[in-house]
Amino acid sequence: MNVPFLDLTGAYEELKPDIDSAVLKVLSSGEYILGKEVDLFENEYARFCGARYCVGVANGLDAILLSLLALGVGPGDEVIVPAHTFIATWFAVTRTGATLVPVEPAECTYGLDPDRIQDAIGNRTRVILPVHLYGQPVDLDPILKIARTHGLSVLEDAAQAHGSAYKGRRIGSHGDIVAWSFYPGKNLGAMGDGGAVTTDDPGLADRIRVLGNYGSSLKYLHNVQGMNSRLDPLQAAILRIKLKTLPEWNERRRRIAGIYGSSLSGREMLLPFVPPGIDPSWHLYVVRHRERDRLRQHLLEASITTLIHYPVPPHLQPAYRDRNLAAGRFPISERIAPELLSLPIGPHFRDEQIRHVIDTILQFR
Ligand SMILES: *Cc1c(COP(=O)(O)O)cnc(C)c1O
Repeated sequence: MNVPFLDLTGAYEELKPDIDSAVLKVLSSGEYILGKEVDLFENEYARFCGARYCVGVANGLDAILLSLLALGVGPGDEVIVPAHTFIATWFAVTRTGATLVPVEPAECTYGLDPDRIQDAIGNRTRVILPVHLYGQPVDLDPILKIARTHGLSVLEDAAQAHGSAYKGRRIGSHGDIVAWSFYPGKNLGAMGDGGAVTTDDPGLADRIRVLGNYGSSLKYLHNVQGMNSRLDPLQAAILRIKLKTLPEWNERRRRIAGIYGSSLSGREMLLPFVPPGIDPSWHLYVVRHRERDRLRQHLLEASITTLIHYPVPPHLQPAYRDRNLAAGRFPISERIAPELLSLPIGPHFRDEQIRHVIDTILQFR
């Protein structure tokens, strides 16, 4: 039995008639940049997240970058980021000219650790940028409290957290501003690139809308040097269809996570730890194993594909070679990277496939 890591055609097959007609409607509307579908998606996604405003942008990296620019972050400012995250979080910060201040993860949840944030704050700190990695919300209340005390903004990277909830409320408006990606593999995925920002702050929403649309709110009048970063109406139309099934699809992920949890506990493997009050979207199901590479090979021989999120921490990437971020600088991130393994999870796996993954792991010696 073959178990791919991700099969995006399952989502299309389930929703084909609706997606096809939504796409055709855009094609015949002649509205190919912004317009009605984008407006409708923004309203529906804001409502879903419990945020007052949603602004569509071109992708998740731009969502973080535009949020930082809207907060006025630039050269001389410092932004606190997780040492353990996808590289986009870091790229967005360095793109603004601001300085990265990476902080090690809490070892059991992989989230940004509030105690370590406190130590990382200096008089140039402007923003704390937590990432709800793997779809599991970080403990936001202590972070928000630190931010309020020091007059800092909180920007959440929620690219993996569509539908995740923190203390009973969906991610989307806990921090000052929340950045989203609709990359196809995310829980809410487009059929191409897409992204958005949600916030309760009308000023921030307006600045992002202007910055992402050539710095212009009136055609051919450019108030700031903006970018071209808009959500494609074809993608917006597809996202509107998929948003309706997102809660059900997240529920299917939760069920698989539950099956993994009850079948794999007590093994040589560290399973995800979810503290009370945290409701993950289960974007990824990440375990840790000392013999990760051998286990991965064992699974591959049984036609099961796994991935590693992420094999090389950002500070050791060639892109940051010039920054003096030597090996050994973030020992927790470096220690967990060779142990991480993401098992297949998603709304379109059959029970037999998940069973096959579990049985194969249980046979590992
Ligand atoms: C996917 C992702 C992004 C970037 O999203 P893109 O749409 O691919 O640019 C940013 N941060 C995290 C944590 C992600 O997983």
